[in-house]
Amino acid sequence: MGKPTGFLERQRLSEAHEPAQARLKHYREFVATLNDEQTRVQGSRCMDCGIPFCNNACPVNNIVPDWNDLVYRGHWEQALRVLHSTNNFPDFTGRLCPAICEEACTLNINDEAVGIKSIEHAIADKGWQMGWIVPRPARVKTGRKIAIVGSGPAGLAAAQQLARAGHEVTVFEKNDRPGGLLGYGIPDFKLDKSLVERRIRQLEAEGVVFRTRVIVGSKSVPPGVANDAVEHLPAETIRQEFDAVVLAAGAEIPRDLPIPGRELKGIHAALEFLIPQNRQIGGGKANPVNARGRHVVVIGGGDTGSDCVGTSYRHRAASVTQLELLPRPPEQENKALTWPGWPRKLRTSSSHLEGETQRLFSIATREFIGEQGVLKAIRTVDLEWNDGKMSEIAGSERTYPADLVFLALGFVSPAASLLEAFGVEKDARGNARAATDGPGCYATNAAGVFAAGDVRRGQSLVVWAIREGRQCARAVDEFLMGSSSLPR
Ligand SMILES: Cc1cc2nc3c(=O)[nH]c(=O)nc-3n(C[C@H](O)[C@H](O)[C@H](O)COP(=O)(O)OP(=O)(O)OC[C@H]3O[C@@H](n4cnc5c(N)ncnc54)[C@H](O)[C@@H]3O)c2cc1C
Ligand code: SF4
Repeated sequence: MGKPTGFLERQRLSEAHEPAQARLKHYREFVATLNDEQTRVQGSRCMDCGIPFCNNACPVNNIVPDWNDLVYRGHWEQALRVLHSTNNFPDFTGRLCPAICEEACTLNINDEAVGIKSIEHAIADKGWQMGWIVPRPARVKTGRKIAIVGSGPAGLAAAQQLARAGHEVTVFEKNDRPGGLLGYGIPDFKLDKSLVERRIRQLEAEGVVFRTRVIVGSKSVPPGVANDAVEHLPAETIRQEFDAVVLAAGAEIPRDLPIPGRELKGIHAALEFLIPQNRQIGGGKANPVNARGRHVVVIGGGDTGSDCVGTSYRHRAASVTQLELLPRPPEQENKALTWPGWPRKLRTSSSHLEGETQRLFSIATREFIGEQGVLKAIRTVDLEWNDGKMSEIAGSERTYPADLVFLALGFVSPAASLLEAFGVEKDARGNARAATDGPGCYATNAAGVFAAGDVRRGQSLVVWAIREGRQCARAVDEFLMGSSSLPR
């Protein structure tokens, strides 16, 4: 710990945001990285409390107290090395992670947590500015060939680890650019796509080969799933040509809301709105779903829903309403009961604050109402929750005007056809079945076929995908070589 009294003397400083009215005029990132001095001061607030709950809470087990201390002392390059020792892509997590570590920070018990995520963001950005982040190709090649299906954070983390262990890695991606949801799904204002591209360049320089617009396994995708593929590779071809396969194909099937009126024009799965927006910003054709002047209703309260809110405001929607089935969480958690865990509390994203978002809780949509085939309104009913069970409140039906509805109800599972093509067993939720601990971890029942990220755990977080990609890489290395020096 650099400064034993730092937490007594210094307050938490949040990263500055461009004001809402200014940032609504564009789709660029709007969060400013802390400068060197601000980061140093924030690093000094870490108490190095002995039991690093932050490190334990972080899915990649970032060694937070060490890099807090290193930035406080001005040893930035060393801080970056420590950060990269557990996390391949802190530039992504420093922007996108919900900061599970900060809930677990000891200071968070009776004060404000150390701004861990903002420090991670600053270290990663400085690393790129200073030219410290460079390709690290393996010195010795093993001659073993690995296919990775899917190029999201799980596939990218696995690819980087395996290439650095000396293997020949090819990543197959059905869409026209690598990155998974980092490229197509997560809005540009949360993650600038040039940041994904520079990591892809780094991986290419380390020997990873990316083959885009190639779909592996089944030729077609389920409804609502993006697919730019012009080439199909059957599972048998992949298994013949490669020594091991990592399925990192995400959990792409969107949850639908099959209620009366679902066929009306104006109802879209969230990614039917968000992905064309990424494509438009990337120089592609205009988003066919336009929210300008429309009354938008977003059904579903998570990250995806919030991204639809922010994108709708940038389109100049007339109003934005967000509906959530669950009850309104408390503004403040009872820390005596929840710390150091992740508490259920009302979370307001920057997108919610970009307009007068009406957020309604304990509410279910029962019907989409239209005129001449076009959506005009939704009919809802209020819910009562008792012991985790919901029931409708009689007489609480209401109608809200709606020209556009975005379904952000989460994702059901990966495409069954991909798992079936490789003969991979599914768990009860339809995900690839593989354990994460013990001998044979990340291996599926199909010999030489491994699974990591959302394809295995269901729709989750970028930081969990990175963890699984890293751990899976070690399991694959052990499988091919008998032992591995890759970290777990
Ligand atoms: C709109 C949205 C916003 C989100 N925001 C956040 C956030 O702010 N913070 C956060 O931590 N998490 C966020 N998440 C969740 C996070 O993006 C995912 O948990 C994470 O990307 C999962 O990584 P993955 O590598 O397992 O899969 P994905 O990122 O889904 O990548 C899978 C890739 O596999 C490809 N693929 C699938 N099948 C095949 C096939 N047969 N052949 C070839 N390629 C195939 C797909 O095209 C895709 O590119 C968000 C999710 C969504 C949908
Ligand atoms: S990756 Fe997320 S949980 Fe881990 S230290 Fe960074 S912000 Fe915290």
